[in-house]
Amino acid sequence: MLGGHVSTAGGLWNAPVRAGRFGFATFQIFSKNQMQWNARPIPEEERKSFIAKTVEMKMQKIMIHASYLLNLGASKEPQREKTLNGFREELRRADALQVEYLVIHPGSAGEGTEKQAIRNISAGIRESMGENQNVQVLLETAAGQGSNVGYTFEQLAEMIDGAGDKERIGVCFDTCHVYASGYDIRSPEGYSETMDRFSSAIGMERLRGIHLNDSKGARGSRLDRHEQIGKGSLGIDGISNVINDLRLSKVPMCLETPLGEEGYEMDIEKIIGAISR
Ligand SMILES: [Zn+2]
Ligand SMILES: [Zn+2]
Repeated sequence: MLGGHVSTAGGLWNAPVRAGRFGFATFQIFSKNQMQWNARPIPEEERKSFIAKTVEMKMQKIMIHASYLLNLGASKEPQREKTLNGFREELRRADALQVEYLVIHPGSAGEGTEKQAIRNISAGIRESMGENQNVQVLLETAAGQGSNVGYTFEQLAEMIDGAGDKERIGVCFDTCHVYASGYDIRSPEGYSETMDRFSSAIGMERLRGIHLNDSKGARGSRLDRHEQIGKGSLGIDGISNVINDLRLSKVPMCLETPLGEEGYEMDIEKIIGAISR
């Protein structure tokens, strides 16, 4: 299920149309400016046309990427309250747009301990997910840059365990981040061992989204720097392990490569070339 992050310029309904031009089966968007706290309310007309276009373009398992400003790991005010309000607004918007998944970076520890950040993340999710909402929250695997947490499968498992409504919580596996955090997904043996570790720590049924990116940084560099498919240190070998894994055939895979829509044709060509026949 290939897709990519697409722009919502000109209105939210343009996103499924843009995704359709690449032949994508799915896509990811920001529902608001990802670098700002405030969100413009979604007009009812725009909401309806977005839903109608996703149906018309046969898009499934759509992901909304939450704002980069949110930090569920934060203990201190006003950061914590701002984050919780922002996160709740993201959940409401995603639910109103009837998308399946809200992808969020777990958060960072800042001056505090990783343990405390993990507890804060669980509590933030537990206290924010509405009972009448359908949207699922996907915690994204972190590269481990700075004081970000969620760079091991065990940390993600701990967050999910403490978060309550577990059915509606999953993981978005970012290939660049997982590789940069130190897991070998480049060699076939390394890939299979990594997936075994994911499976025993978290469970494959929770792997519900993939960000398909090559990595500018080396394995273990902890650098969150995406690269075009086949042009980074993960390389086409690593990408090939992921796209040919039959367990992932129903998992949406979104490209988030640096050139964005300008580079997707090139990325798609590499991916097609790497499909085992
Ligand atoms: Zn992300
Ligand atoms: Zn990234």
